[in-house]
Amino acid sequence: MTSPPLPPHHYAVNSQIHPGPMPLPPAPVCRCCGQSPAATVTFRTQTAYLFAFSIRSVPGPFCRTCGLAVFRKTTTDTLAKGWWSAFSLLAVNPILIAQNLLAIRTVNRLPHSPPLPHPPLPPGKPIHRRPAAYIALIPVLWLLFFITGMTIHIVT
Ligand SMILES: [Zn+2]
Repeated sequence: MTSPPLPPHHYAVNSQIHPGPMPLPPAPVCRCCGQSPAATVTFRTQTAYLFAFSIRSVPGPFCRTCGLAVFRKTTTDTLAKGWWSAFSLLAVNPILIAQNLLAIRTVNRLPHSPPLPHPPLPPGKPIHRRPAAYIALIPVLWLLFFITGMTIHIVT
């Protein structure tokens, strides 16, 4: 009589109880739903004020579904609130958005996990369907007009 195969996160538990000759490190599990496989990534969001900014990190590990939900939330918040100081506009916000894109790329490489009793976070709407993300167009367009105006002023 054979027992049914264990879900992937049970393998990590068993490897801790009965280590082989070369014990494997425990597989990361999602901090939101306990699902495995999960990727150890960190998403970040920024709120910028005129002369200051604050960065909030949301460390993983995350499964594919929860990672997508956290990516969408943190990136939308960054697109809406992260542009409102010169330093954030020119340096910090583009870097944070790029880091979030790299993190979601890692998460998207994970396979889909079987359902668990604790459901993963709902991923919500894609970023391009969230109105708050379009607030980012205001400072970006302002920057483009500023650069264009300076270029015309210098040339003429
Ligand atoms: Zn999860």
